[in-house]
Amino acid sequence: MEKTVYWIEGDGIGPDVWKAGRPVLDAAVEKAYGGGRKLVWKELLAGGKAFKETGDYLPQATLDALAGAELAFKGPLATPVGGGFRSLNVTLRQVLDLYACIRPIRYFKGIESPVKRPDLVDMVIYRENTEDVYAGIEYATGTPEAKKLIAFLRDELGANVDETAGIGIKPITPAGSKRLVRKAIRFAVDSGRSSVTLVHKGNIMKYTEGAFRAFGYEVAATEFADQTMTEEEAAAGGKKPIVIKDRIADNMFQVALMRPQDYSVIATTNLNGDYISDALAAQVGGLGLAPGVNMSEKLAFFEPTHGIAPALAGKDKANPGSLILSGAMLLAHIGWNEAASLIHDAMDKTISGKKVTVDLADQIPGATTIGCAAFGELLAANL
Ligand code: NAD
Repeated sequence: MEKTVYWIEGDGIGPDVWKAGRPVLDAAVEKAYGGGRKLVWKELLAGGKAFKETGDYLPQATLDALAGAELAFKGPLATPVGGGFRSLNVTLRQVLDLYACIRPIRYFKGIESPVKRPDLVDMVIYRENTEDVYAGIEYATGTPEAKKLIAFLRDELGANVDETAGIGIKPITPAGSKRLVRKAIRFAVDSGRSSVTLVHKGNIMKYTEGAFRAFGYEVAATEFADQTMTEEEAAAGGKKPIVIKDRIADNMFQVALMRPQDYSVIATTNLNGDYISDALAAQVGGLGLAPGVNMSEKLAFFEPTHGIAPALAGKDKANPGSLILSGAMLLAHIGWNEAASLIHDAMDKTISGKKVTVDLADQIPGATTIGCAAFGELLAANL
């Protein structure tokens, strides 16, 4: 069986981490299935390499291929200064309607963490990617747009808004909330996870954050009635595999530190998701090993969550771990779980062996620093 993966090399350390990382993914597939399955890699151009070869940072041919793709995988992309795009990443998300940003957060043995029991963290964050204050509807103080909007709010709706305010709009739709929560619950069902927690700030923002919570419970009750129950139903002795919880965002930050073992899948709005994913990544030892995927209904677009790290580019110093773990997510996504498990086990073994790239060596007492390519080779040897 073959699966086509469209890949974008990316800028900065992109070439370094791909060169070290892709052979590990291919080796894991080979080891798990002995030639019976294979990833077929097809390169697409974007970023600096695309500009050099075509004069365009995001060629139409790349967008056309991605529009028809099911699996894609990108390295980090620089935001071109003075170019035609605000950000290539944001453009890709918008054009391809990649509405769910998914980040699994787990601990790898041996890494120093600021908390006592980082090993209790095993959460998967589903962050809504298209709505909320990230929708880009924002007007600076004193601009005609802000003044017009404030006049409308004051005169038509009786809202008490200072006329010097900058104004941002926070749209949260039933459809946008529901498709995100639906995806999170579907994942919990498919992967045998025990809870989905809706994280919101609905006590204050009742009709946006509070509505997200209500839409989430509605999806659970109407579409997953056989698999889910509320915390109240669970307390009353209910016996269904998944508990739907909800937590107010500030409380979630506390309980994530104090009782991480009680939380499994998190479904949340865009801004909350941004904060909580970095906080949880820090809890397990930083962003260095943080994989991710952005998904539409059709396309799963994997990416390491770090940027282009220009200071490390071409120096064989970058950590390819985030790209390799994103690859393990891809393998699990297509059901090649044996290969994904091999990668996770190899990562545990390699980090425990304390021969790691410089960013990890800084966090592991007594570790030896090795290069990006050597770290990839060691991982492959530990599969
Ligand atoms: P960054 O992730 O590039 O760097 C932050 C810090 O982490 C730096 O100290 C860097 O050296 C280190 N670091 C990052 N990845 C590493 C790795 N694999 N191994 C070892 N160390 C690593 O973030 P930044 O400095 O905020 O952004 C730099 C550029 O990257 C910007 O142009 C930004 O637009 C772009 N960026 C792209 C993406 C993406 O494509 N998804 C994400 C974030 C930033």
